[in-house]
Amino acid sequence: MSSGTYTEADIERLIPPRVSVDPTAVTCIKQAWAFAQRVHAGQRRRSGEPYTEHLFQTTKMLGALDMGAPTLIAGILHDTLEDTQTCEADLAEAFGTDVAFLVAGLTKLKREKSKQGRHEGTPYYANNLRKLLLAAAQDVRILIIKLCDRLHNMQTLSHMPAETQKRVSLETRNVYVPVAERLGMHTIKRELEDLAFAYLEPDSFKKACRLFKKCKSEHEISIIEATATLQLEQAIHARIPFRIEQRDKGICSFYQKLERKEWELSQINDIITLQVIVPNADDCYIMLGKIHGLWHPIHGKFKDYIAFPKPNGFQCLRTTVGAESLGILEIQIYSDDMYERAKYGFAVLLARNEY
Ligand code: MN
Repeated sequence: MSSGTYTEADIERLIPPRVSVDPTAVTCIKQAWAFAQRVHAGQRRRSGEPYTEHLFQTTKMLGALDMGAPTLIAGILHDTLEDTQTCEADLAEAFGTDVAFLVAGLTKLKREKSKQGRHEGTPYYANNLRKLLLAAAQDVRILIIKLCDRLHNMQTLSHMPAETQKRVSLETRNVYVPVAERLGMHTIKRELEDLAFAYLEPDSFKKACRLFKKCKSEHEISIIEATATLQLEQAIHARIPFRIEQRDKGICSFYQKLERKEWELSQINDIITLQVIVPNADDCYIMLGKIHGLWHPIHGKFKDYIAFPKPNGFQCLRTTVGAESLGILEIQIYSDDMYERAKYGFAVLLARNEY
């Protein structure tokens, strides 16, 4: 387990390249880290780790999302108003009004939530969702920091009492998962959803994990074979450069699908999806033709999400193919740009707008 004591060099490694080219920004981020270490000194998480561990992990996620300097700094300082003697004016003076505004926005969410949470029996998360959306309307960066904060809290939820685990998981499922989904932040959404599932329905979760493992090992061989075949094709015909990734289905979404398919494991073809990434949208269609030439497409399973994007902006070509040696396999074709957006969703747009 990490000690929670990080140096400036550790923080520097979290900074995305886009931000680290600016020495002023780097200095400011390091100053924020020193500040957080000072004001949170002596505080510990339930896990026994120094409080700064939570700040480090939250900021690490924001760095992975390619967020800009103010968002990273606000990530480092996000609990200072709530949990330390620091006031908004202190933050504004040391780190500027933009950072102070973000941290104040996050703190407001938290305060109102803890008040709401004590009303017994009311679905307080309905109110929280409204507050979260209001915060997003003010500045969507608040929402992105909040999602990373929540993800780390969910990752460390085992240290909390059972009652807290249920309450926080329920709120995660009802508020944060739909928000992450709406923002197209698929990676975060899936992890939040699976963690909440594990706490809310432990028996179903265990059952799903068992079946998932079984199902996955069967699919893995066909993934390896399909990857090899595509790479061979590429070596011979080299018309479009491409790379291949694979994506495991989330445990929760696997379980929901199994329920829909009446527990027929053979009905699940997307436990591992092969993702083929090409330079641009035109290449996607060429690659699709190539794939349909290699393997037989299954009728009715093709979706053109390039022409018809999902409401959250998700785009790709999705097909399911079958071959004797391969079994049935779902393949998604993305351009580089579509792939980034599918993984990080709205955060990618934010990053490009130099927030
Ligand atoms: Mn926090």
